[in-house]
Amino acid sequence: MDIVGRKIVVQGRVQGVGFRPYVWRLANDADLNGHVLNDGTGVRIEVWGAATELQAFTENLTRDLPPLAVVNDVTVTALKVTALQSGFRIAESDVGTITTEITPDAATCPDCLYEMRDPRDRRYRYPFINCTHCGPRLSIVRDLPYDRAQTSMSTFEMCADCCREYEDPADRRFHAQPNACPDCGPQVWLENTDGLVECANPIGRTVELLQQGGIVAIKGLGGFHLACDATNAKCVQALRHRKRRPAKPFAVMARDLDHIRVYCKVSKTEEKLLMAPSAPIVLLSRRSEKDLVGVAPQLDRIGVMLPHTPLHHLLMAGLDQPLVMTSGNPSGTPQITQNAQALSDLVGIADVFLMHDRDIVNRLDDSVMRVDCGGPSILRRSRGIAPASIGLHDAFEDVPPTLAMGAAQKAAFCVLAGGHATPSPHIGDLITRETYDDYRTKISLYRDMYHLDPAIIAVDLHPDYLSSRWGKKLAYETQARLVTVQHHHAHLASVLAEHQVAPDAARSVGVILDGTGLGSDGTIWGGEILVGDYSGFDRKAHFQPVALPGGEQAVREPWRNLVAHLYAAFGADWQRRISGMPIAERLGAKPAGLIIQMIDKGVNAPVASSAGRLFDAVAAAVGIAFDAQQYEGQAAMALEAAVDLRALNGGYTVAVDETLSWGALWIGVFDDLKAGADPGLIAARFHVGLADVLVRTTVRIASEADISRVVLSGGVLQNRLLQHLLESELRDLGFDVLSARKMPANDGGLSLGQACVAALPR
Ligand code: ZN
Ligand code: ZN
Ligand code: FE
Repeated sequence: MDIVGRKIVVQGRVQGVGFRPYVWRLANDADLNGHVLNDGTGVRIEVWGAATELQAFTENLTRDLPPLAVVNDVTVTALKVTALQSGFRIAESDVGTITTEITPDAATCPDCLYEMRDPRDRRYRYPFINCTHCGPRLSIVRDLPYDRAQTSMSTFEMCADCCREYEDPADRRFHAQPNACPDCGPQVWLENTDGLVECANPIGRTVELLQQGGIVAIKGLGGFHLACDATNAKCVQALRHRKRRPAKPFAVMARDLDHIRVYCKVSKTEEKLLMAPSAPIVLLSRRSEKDLVGVAPQLDRIGVMLPHTPLHHLLMAGLDQPLVMTSGNPSGTPQITQNAQALSDLVGIADVFLMHDRDIVNRLDDSVMRVDCGGPSILRRSRGIAPASIGLHDAFEDVPPTLAMGAAQKAAFCVLAGGHATPSPHIGDLITRETYDDYRTKISLYRDMYHLDPAIIAVDLHPDYLSSRWGKKLAYETQARLVTVQHHHAHLASVLAEHQVAPDAARSVGVILDGTGLGSDGTIWGGEILVGDYSGFDRKAHFQPVALPGGEQAVREPWRNLVAHLYAAFGADWQRRISGMPIAERLGAKPAGLIIQMIDKGVNAPVASSAGRLFDAVAAAVGIAFDAQQYEGQAAMALEAAVDLRALNGGYTVAVDETLSWGALWIGVFDDLKAGADPGLIAARFHVGLADVLVRTTVRIASEADISRVVLSGGVLQNRLLQHLLESELRDLGFDVLSARKMPANDGGLSLGQACVAALPR
């Protein structure tokens, strides 16, 4: 028999996902000799056997992977045939430089669910059941390599039964680091501010309290949630009141797909997302406006998720209603992860606390996804998705290690090393002390975990973003080269990067529709048509710069943008244009004159070519969001939700020019208002008109420079209708259209673009 030897190195997400036992089984089935081990780069296999068997083994290696494994690369080299070891074993880890991936947390797998529901199983109704294919990962990791001792499970000593499973390569819990059972693992209990609530069945008691209209803080996988009966309008209102969150949509958890279908339409693709191990919140269309009405006021879609831990499964099994599951935190601060902090900070919000004693090391908010005409996209990248890396074009393999700091809103940073970008989970808006602290802590953690000593640090051009400031300080400390990246250039590059566009590829037209970001000319940008690549860009067209009277206040109060837009469109004549209309009366009650003075004198009224503010102004004009926005994007989201989909056949006129100005559009809006048109019709004509002018401008610019690729990016493209109109029309015209899919289109995706722009030699 012809005996040969091979060394096989497998890279990717191959540790902590049951890859070694999988290899072990394959090798034993094929009667091969040798061993498999984890090392700093992934999994290393040294194997000897008959040439044909070995060939089949190598081919099978990536054929039927464990569910959580992702293989990026397999290299095979020949080995000498030495003294044969007999049998195949799993060898001790060899820890060198860590370049392997940490796995995202994964929703409870079907096997574990089956055991949990089986009265004869020793883990019957155990809320922390898990295995190699499911359970907590990043949320409990302190350091690499991913090993029980480096997780918050280190304080639980495994009992003899759990040990046996852990050590048996044939067991589905072999090296499942969070392995536990009722005898040795974490426990749940119920608590209120007076202390422990005595009860035999804390989960059962929680179900009763929820049915009675209670608000319960529930410690989940990546943080605390606040839960209540989503069908109980009074209860939802009470939660809004207590959390001081009057309007921002709440996510909902439902027992199973059938239960979701009672309230929402679910497509095949959406079904797949909901059921995936990442178990994200998926934005779904409601069936009826009347259902779950307080959950997402003024919106046509709601964010829904399925239970993703055994604890959530047990809870939902007892309930006939879906639950509101909103992040447990006082408004504006990060989701709470620690028991003591929950008790102190959520007092007065939650009636009672469902606690457990498995510490959350890394806070992870729920991820949010949606499906549009181009497929699924990630709107918030966190639990179940982070810290998956994003493969880049080969040209990034040899770039210096880079840390990109992100923006100020929806902060997230990104580590770029070895040809892969690893974005941090969503952190939040860097406006409160707590969020900023959390941001800095996570950066340290990631630097430790990935042994990252950055040679380059990328920051936004805006010097006052806390992320830019912290980046500068880090660059000074680490001697890294500091590179500033213009905000909308980073939005463009982020989409190029996730689609693995080569650095030497032809330039693209970037349609960047955004709130605000500092432009290269020192003014505020936000509605930009760029031509560029990673190395640079030209600003080919942009939205008309319009004043932001009151700066930040203009972002919160849509009526200010309406005044500014009317003044920009019609000058001193603006009041006459709207006289006699209800909107004139509403504006009359506001200090509009003062706003005009501010604009004329240029006092606290910087001009911005923002796309987001145009939406705000139109929403205010049709009376959808006039006085104030309770949360970012509220006016634009409500305007999109108001669109009468039967009226998508004609839009307002906008002349195509280097500056997209809105005079004709406003004339159209007010003619319609005067004629008594429905807000839904005006909203439809606005979306269609805007998409139309953007498409025509793109066509003009693309043909001038002979460009065939268009990138769509920026926070305004979270608008599903606008995304759809642009993507489908541009595609029909023959363009290669790239949109944000793996990273958010909003500022949460910015750091990937920053990293790629900064890392390439210039
Ligand atoms: Zn499992
Ligand atoms: Zn045990
Ligand atoms: Fe932005």
